[in-house]
Amino acid sequence: QVEEWRKLRDEPTVTVDGVHVELAANIGTPNDVAGVLDNGGEGVGLYRTEFLYMGRDKLPSEDVQYNAYKTVLEKMEGKPVVVRTLDIGGDKELPYLDLPKEMNPFLGFRAVRLCLDRQDIFRTQLRALLRASVHGNLKIMFPMIATLGEFREAKAVLLEEKEKLVKEGIEVADNIQLGIMVEIPSTAVLADQFAKEVDFFSIGTNDLIQYTMAADRMNERVSYLYQPYNPSILRLIKMVIDASHREGKWTGMCGEMAGDTTAIPLLLGLGLDEFSMSATSILPARSQLTKLSQAEMKELAAKALDMQTAEQVVELVRSIGQ
Ligand code: PEP
Ligand code: MG
Repeated sequence: QVEEWRKLRDEPTVTVDGVHVELAANIGTPNDVAGVLDNGGEGVGLYRTEFLYMGRDKLPSEDVQYNAYKTVLEKMEGKPVVVRTLDIGGDKELPYLDLPKEMNPFLGFRAVRLCLDRQDIFRTQLRALLRASVHGNLKIMFPMIATLGEFREAKAVLLEEKEKLVKEGIEVADNIQLGIMVEIPSTAVLADQFAKEVDFFSIGTNDLIQYTMAADRMNERVSYLYQPYNPSILRLIKMVIDASHREGKWTGMCGEMAGDTTAIPLLLGLGLDEFSMSATSILPARSQLTKLSQAEMKELAAKALDMQTAEQVVELVRSIGQ
């Protein structure tokens, strides 16, 4: 099997009926890029920038960030790199920010909420990203977007920083796609409206599942409710993908579900354009996808959407030998 996977390393991911999907990787540091290329990643679908901020005693400077982003973009040699702006809070803490303890950190002051409040932090990161943009194929995405207002505000800040840099005579790429993570149900439900304003969506199922099912992703006592294959989750995913396609945009997925063998046939059938996963999952996923027909998986997904329970969906996928 490993032999077969190796052969697929430099191949595109094309289904039996000729549909191309992109297999990208999730990374946390520039050191992870080697593994992405080694495993045949066609891009970086999620660069979690939190690690730049963690494990140190103060905020990383603009230059420290610029160098990290530039390194990743250069090493990826023109392949797409989706960088997520700071997603701190929830399970990821930053001691030096000295934020007050919250009753419900997962529902609290985190990610883009914090960035729109602490614009000093946000603007520094955006400047570093914009400066790095000339070194490769950069796409930027905002995490934990719950409202159109948040997206517009964050985008406005980005455009302001871009304008400032241009005025300073610093070169910035002018084709940077701007997207959002869809990991809050309100955003999935209004995807048709978001799709008119963003360049792409990336579905963050790790959080989308916990918020939809109201089941803490870290709490084992409610882990039985953490159900990726629940038809409600599949319907939300469908809404997002369909909304993006109606506007000529694309949708990726960067939650764990994107690399899950049982989910992959369904996601292909729902029309997902980009699957972003841990690097070591890429070749097995490519092997699986190249044996599937999207037309057939569309029928499978349609059946799954009409089922009542996650167990029934799993049974359905198993019944086709997946
Ligand atoms: C997600 O929520 O699915 C996601 C990819 O982000 P994180 O796991 O970093 O919260
Ligand atoms: Mg998340």
